[in-house]
Amino acid sequence: MRKPLIVGNWKMHGTQAEVSQLLGGLAVKAVADSKVEVVVCPPYLYVAAAAAQLDDSAISIGAQNLCANEEVQGAYTGEISAKMLVDAGCHYVIVGHSERREYYREDNALVAEKFLMAQRAGLCPILCVGESLQQRDSGEALSFVAEQLAAVIDQLGISVFADAVVAYEPIWAIGTGRTATPEQAQEVHEFIRDTFAERDKGVAAGLRILYGGSVKADNAKLLFAKPDIDGALVGGASLSPDGFSAIWQAVE
Ligand code: PEP
Repeated sequence: MRKPLIVGNWKMHGTQAEVSQLLGGLAVKAVADSKVEVVVCPPYLYVAAAAAQLDDSAISIGAQNLCANEEVQGAYTGEISAKMLVDAGCHYVIVGHSERREYYREDNALVAEKFLMAQRAGLCPILCVGESLQQRDSGEALSFVAEQLAAVIDQLGISVFADAVVAYEPIWAIGTGRTATPEQAQEVHEFIRDTFAERDKGVAAGLRILYGGSVKADNAKLLFAKPDIDGALVGGASLSPDGFSAIWQAVE
């Protein structure tokens, strides 16, 4: 049985005061024995404070990125290691988000390195995959997603996905207000699960596959009704306690 997972990606938003207010608003809405697991990924600078503030709550913390070169420490100016994230209170980390692939030129090989560093340190990687609008329109969505998955599977093996999460995030739906229909999302989620099942049925059955791309309270219920959608990676709507909690309540 896969426990639904809702992850908020705050991207580069908020001041200390705003983050603290947001966390306070979320903490009162989180239920201790919920059927849904809830995670927030604040900007690096606020991770430790967020972990401290959410210490007694049912919400756990993730990071949005990590260093690919070294898992503990070293001469990598400006980088944050996986072990540092664990030390600061993280349990999850997002790897391969399309914004990092596009703006910071992170390719599949680098994403696989980050995935490895995360797991070595005991973090659960959330591997993001998803096609552009052009790829979708030219019928290449599934083959592109397959390529992104294969880059990690071929490098690290299938068993690493026993402790990982995959997020399907069509680029054309991120921050655009244009959500994939539940049927479009389910088609890709089923394809992802089948891709894993061809190699290991147990890993495929246990793998949580999140949908991301303009998820909001009013479209969450129909998305979560699909059999292979196990939760969501949420950007914009995770910046409001009411908007974000309404999404996890839609799963419950
Ligand atoms: C995201 O950045 O991962 C995302 C899904 O953003 P939004 O929900 O704003 O589309």
